[in-house]
Amino acid sequence: MAIKIFNTLTRQKEELIPLEPGKIRIYMCGPTVYDYFHVGNARPFILFDIFRRYLKYRGFEVSYVTNLTDIDDKIIKKANEDKVSTAVVAENYTKAFFEDTKRLGISEADAYPKATENIAGIISLIEKLMQNGLAYQINGDIFYDVSNFNGYGKLSGKNIDELESGARVEVDTRKSDPLDFALWKAAKPGEPFWESPWGKGRPGWHIECSVMSMKHLGESFDIHAGGVDLVFPHHENEIAQSEGATGKPFVKYWMHNGFLNIEGEKMSKSLGNFFTVREILEKYHPAVIRMFFLLKHYRSPINFSEDRILEAQNALERIVTTLANIDSSLEDRELGSSQANPSLAESIDDLKQEFLNEMDDDFNSAGALAKVFDLVKEANLILAKNKLEPAEASSLLKIKQTIEEFDSFLGILFYKEATASSIKEATLINMLIDVRTRLRAEKQWALADFIRVELDKIGIELKDRPDKTTWFKKITQ
Ligand code: AMP
Ligand code: ZN
Repeated sequence: MAIKIFNTLTRQKEELIPLEPGKIRIYMCGPTVYDYFHVGNARPFILFDIFRRYLKYRGFEVSYVTNLTDIDDKIIKKANEDKVSTAVVAENYTKAFFEDTKRLGISEADAYPKATENIAGIISLIEKLMQNGLAYQINGDIFYDVSNFNGYGKLSGKNIDELESGARVEVDTRKSDPLDFALWKAAKPGEPFWESPWGKGRPGWHIECSVMSMKHLGESFDIHAGGVDLVFPHHENEIAQSEGATGKPFVKYWMHNGFLNIEGEKMSKSLGNFFTVREILEKYHPAVIRMFFLLKHYRSPINFSEDRILEAQNALERIVTTLANIDSSLEDRELGSSQANPSLAESIDDLKQEFLNEMDDDFNSAGALAKVFDLVKEANLILAKNKLEPAEASSLLKIKQTIEEFDSFLGILFYKEATASSIKEATLINMLIDVRTRLRAEKQWALADFIRVELDKIGIELKDRPDKTTWFKKITQ
């Protein structure tokens, strides 16, 4: 069966036919390195890495590039607040990004280009746009002239009028059209700058992705990915810049993940309703976070709630426990040449094929995991027997090998490392929180406070939210 991908550009599922047979080139918009990575940010990085690994598993040669936005308004603001240079801010949070992605089991991209290392390429792309009549200068600022690019709006599926009325775009009365966007920003006093044909300045955000993706993957490549918030204006602008400069189709398939929401709103740094990956990993194993995302289709919005995370943890525990039980029942057993029970072998093969069909269908990881649970169920039925026939033992081995093979891209079985003690610790803390909630309901403030203070002493901080109290291990660094 062919692999199908939902393409934002055409608004339908399409068969994945690489531009170059056997080879898939993917660009994924990376982080702006001015703060710690939050769990919402982690969603595209976890999932698109899994999809990339899946495509490799399916036999494609895959190039995967993620940029680092290391100069930007937010970085300048943070540098001013912390009284350090923008380079220091970018360096610190780039380091934190790599630490966090590594802990989350995200494999390294093939390249991590940085905006500040691509200024020459950015300047020459802007020059090309000016030659093509698609950019204009006002006092050292360069803007893209949206009205001159045929097809602006094709990714978001809106025409210019609709975009103008609904868009939240930078207001600047000097622009010919509100949708025009900055390619190059003239330096303001105290800001970092680079020399350019238009004077001192720095690049806009959108242009860097056009430059870095085409530098590493060519003027036309297969897949461009990111969160759904990037469709407009970021990705729309990337198309305008790249196609406006080269005259060639920029990207064949555009893929966008849905938001991680919290209490109905997008988890985001600007709204302040976020949990950093660091906070969450104090409490949950990284494989649980991966499982949490895999249990939902990547395009669907997903609600962050502790209950859902615990569900993911339980689901993962079921898989890992069954694999451990298979190990212990196969220990010291000579499987020799015995084959899996034929009818069982067939149903394992069927489930494996169904798993692949789900993944091939626009990476339906939730549907695929349901097949893993069916395999687990089959294994548990065999494990429940008093005596294992050789054919049944071989079936168990086949199930285990199949799940481990899938793990080459799912990357969830390292959960095995989670110690039973940390799970017991979480259960005890949740129990104390329950007791405290009841004490508070009965207005027994002194005892309720006693619990909070004592937990705090051992590094457990409670957060009282309107609906419930949650806890975090305090970060000691
Ligand atoms: P940023 O560093 O904010 O530019 O975001 C990096 C990536 O995370 C982008 O692909 C965003 O679309 C994505 N992203 C940010 N917030 C969320 C969220 N709450 N849910 C899902 N993806 C998000
Ligand atoms: Zn980008």
